[in-house]
Amino acid sequence: METIEKMIEDFKKVLDDSTHTSPETLKHEMIQWLDETLSPRLKQVLEERETQSSSEQTVTPFVVSGKIDYEKVILKFGCTKIDESLIDRVERLTSRGAHVFLRRGFFYAHRDLDKILDCHERGDKFYLYTGRGPSSESLHLGHLIPFLFTKYLQEAFKVPLVIQITDDEKKIWKKLNKEKSKRLGRENVKDIIACGFDASNTFIFSSYATVGGKFYENVVEIADCVTVNKANSTFGFTGEASTAKMIFPSVQAAPSFSSSFPHKLFPDEKKNIPCLIPCAIDQDPYFRLTRDVAPRLDFIKPALIESKFFPALRASGNNGKMSASDANSAIYINDSAKDIKRKINSAVTGGRDNLEDQKKYGAKLEEDIPFQYLSFFLEDDAELEHIKKEYGEGRMTTGDVKKRLVQVVTEIVERHRMARAAVTDEMVDAFMTPRPLFE
Ligand code: ATP
Repeated sequence: METIEKMIEDFKKVLDDSTHTSPETLKHEMIQWLDETLSPRLKQVLEERETQSSSEQTVTPFVVSGKIDYEKVILKFGCTKIDESLIDRVERLTSRGAHVFLRRGFFYAHRDLDKILDCHERGDKFYLYTGRGPSSESLHLGHLIPFLFTKYLQEAFKVPLVIQITDDEKKIWKKLNKEKSKRLGRENVKDIIACGFDASNTFIFSSYATVGGKFYENVVEIADCVTVNKANSTFGFTGEASTAKMIFPSVQAAPSFSSSFPHKLFPDEKKNIPCLIPCAIDQDPYFRLTRDVAPRLDFIKPALIESKFFPALRASGNNGKMSASDANSAIYINDSAKDIKRKINSAVTGGRDNLEDQKKYGAKLEEDIPFQYLSFFLEDDAELEHIKKEYGEGRMTTGDVKKRLVQVVTEIVERHRMARAAVTDEMVDAFMTPRPLFE
């Protein structure tokens, strides 16, 4: 603003000084002033804006960018941080250690998780709901985060799980043709099954195939509670948004309510079964809206347990997330060992420019993507602590850390590849067939 005011002042001065000059001279002075003063200043203002916006955080279901301050995100969204006492309670109730993602603070925020634990403590059932929008042939490591964590929750609490494949979402937002998005959905289901979910207690369904009957009744009930203004303010829709975008949040909301599943998935007397949703924090706006609507329909508000993002290969520190929209930002779980090595070697690191400086100052761990990936996937706490100390204090090189990460990721991917190879079409059909889960 100050720069613009200064430009106006300068402009007035040029005009003032030119009062007694001829129109030709005035024109000449104006052009000179535009070239020498206004253009460089405008350029400066634009550059400042650009720098500001690239460091500003954006976290929505559609865009995650900038340097993310996770504390600020929960303050803005209004969810609650998961503290040690809640983690202790999860461990006590499940009689097992908390998952690495919970213990290390990657799943860091919640809504009503305490109520879900109360429900479990009373001996009442709840169910889990998570999802995937099929935007690529294969999942990437970032997509694995909610699924691996959901698998742990399903095993620890022994509860049913529903997984929505939002093939409609990718048609609406990514303009994928509907046949392609259904095909990608089925391919992604194989990756999901390969994570090891309990076949007798998991129902996977596609939006296209499922929205109808009781599910659709709930979609309409929910959508009827959401005004255009509310959708616009929650999701940032503008007048150009298609009306499909307006209806989709209700399609994603419906599985939070057990009555959406009429297929004897849940017995009749358990119409209103509490739901816990594990997801990344970018999905919070969908479920904030769902929670607003729930009491008006006599439904229980879904609870949430929310994670930070698995970062992109070429991001620095907390910038953005690994996304299928940028193939080079991601390691896919069908990547070859050679590709994994090449991609990890291209990752942004916090190592110093030369060995001498590395030994002297150590790596900047908060900016180091290979170290961050290890902190998600290297389960051995003692080894992680050792790398943290040695690399952070300069006794380990970036090459050493990348080499260890290549081993860890290749092992995960190899294990997953074998599990996926064992997934047959019959298994996919079985997971996707509605059937009673609470048995
Ligand atoms: P993409 O553009 O990669 O397809 P997406 O967010 O559209 O990303 P979805 O399949 O819609 O992917 O998301 C499924 C779940 O995975 C959501 O909970 C989402 O927040 C989570 N997720 C996606 N990417 C990451 C990531 N990099 N780190 C952690 N969670 C992620």
